[in-house]
Amino acid sequence: MASVPALSYSSFRTYEECPLRWRFLYVDRLPEAPRGYFTFGRVIHSVLEELVAPLVVPAGKRAGENDRQRTLDEWHPAPGHAAPRWMTEEEMLRAYDTAWSSEGYTSAEEESRYRALGREILLGYLDALRRERPLPVAVEEHLEARWDGIPVHGYVDRIDRTPAGGLEVVDYKTSRDLSNEDARDSDQLSLYQVLVENNYAEPVEGLTLYHLRSLTPLRSAPRERSTLVGLHDRLGVALDGIRAEAFEPTPGRHCARCDFRDRCPEFRSVPPAEGARLRTLVDRFESLRAEENRLETELRRTAEELHRAAEELGIHRVPGSRSVAVRRREEAWQFSLDPVRPLLERSGLASRVGSGTPEEVRRLVRDPTVDAELRRKVAETGARRVKWYWELEDAAP
Ligand code: SF4
Repeated sequence: MASVPALSYSSFRTYEECPLRWRFLYVDRLPEAPRGYFTFGRVIHSVLEELVAPLVVPAGKRAGENDRQRTLDEWHPAPGHAAPRWMTEEEMLRAYDTAWSSEGYTSAEEESRYRALGREILLGYLDALRRERPLPVAVEEHLEARWDGIPVHGYVDRIDRTPAGGLEVVDYKTSRDLSNEDARDSDQLSLYQVLVENNYAEPVEGLTLYHLRSLTPLRSAPRERSTLVGLHDRLGVALDGIRAEAFEPTPGRHCARCDFRDRCPEFRSVPPAEGARLRTLVDRFESLRAEENRLETELRRTAEELHRAAEELGIHRVPGSRSVAVRRREEAWQFSLDPVRPLLERSGLASRVGSGTPEEVRRLVRDPTVDAELRRKVAETGARRVKWYWELEDAAP
């Protein structure tokens, strides 16, 4: 069984997307080709760290220190701490020039486009920072936690003190498009909430994706426990897979940006010596599949014709020359829970139909301890589906 490192968000996401790619990156430690947009994101993050780090109010941020967090205006530098200090535009742009890296850009033109974009982002960000005057308590902080048995870690871009005394987690994004839904559904922010809650005494009151290109903070509420449980389950599945060394390739659209296609069995080419033999097998497979489809269609049509005749004659057993075709009936209920789920939630019964299987719903509908009106509404969303099918029995000798 493999020893498992703490899961970061990106490691977890990589495993969920393709376990084999996770192995290439985290076990074999194969390097990926540099890409301009990653370099760009790294540079911007490092300048923002330099910019905000002198504004961090260092006192009382940790659980157990019994020290109230002070605001920037209240803060007087303690011995050994520099006073909060705002960078000038010139200083910031100098830091940007120093941090700049040409790695991964496909052309000089692309690099200069990104460089100009970065300058615009940083100037706009500094301006917004001066207006908003947030109260950062940490920047680029590495946090670790054991979340109900699962080791997790991550670098949080910024943690701010909220006016109410809680904490807001801020994650910078240099990507092109981002929406409020992205912030609301972000697993990364959910994981950061858990990390901050495990390391700070104050409650997390907000989770924000900061869209740097538009200088827009996309704010979302802290996650409910039920959402976090779902993420914890998925992390657990990834952890179990890593422990069991389950590294199967999982191809998809993400393969287009995978650097390991030449090592991946999904993309490995057939050795020339085996080419002719395997081509014959593929051709045979293809014709058999076509034949299978033709037979399936013919089988369905024959069954339908038999069914129509049996309906007209009101019979269920039809003797052939060698066997007897017997018509069987299968009944299933289906429910549409969307309209009643809010009602169930209001009545505190949503967990009774957690996964919404017909059996769970039918149990609820039959339960006399549940309000009769609610049961009636749930029952009305149900529809009975009847399916007929044929089986063959040996004909009597
Ligand atoms: S090419 Fe696709 S399937 Fe293969 S390792 Fe990469 S992501 Fe996974």
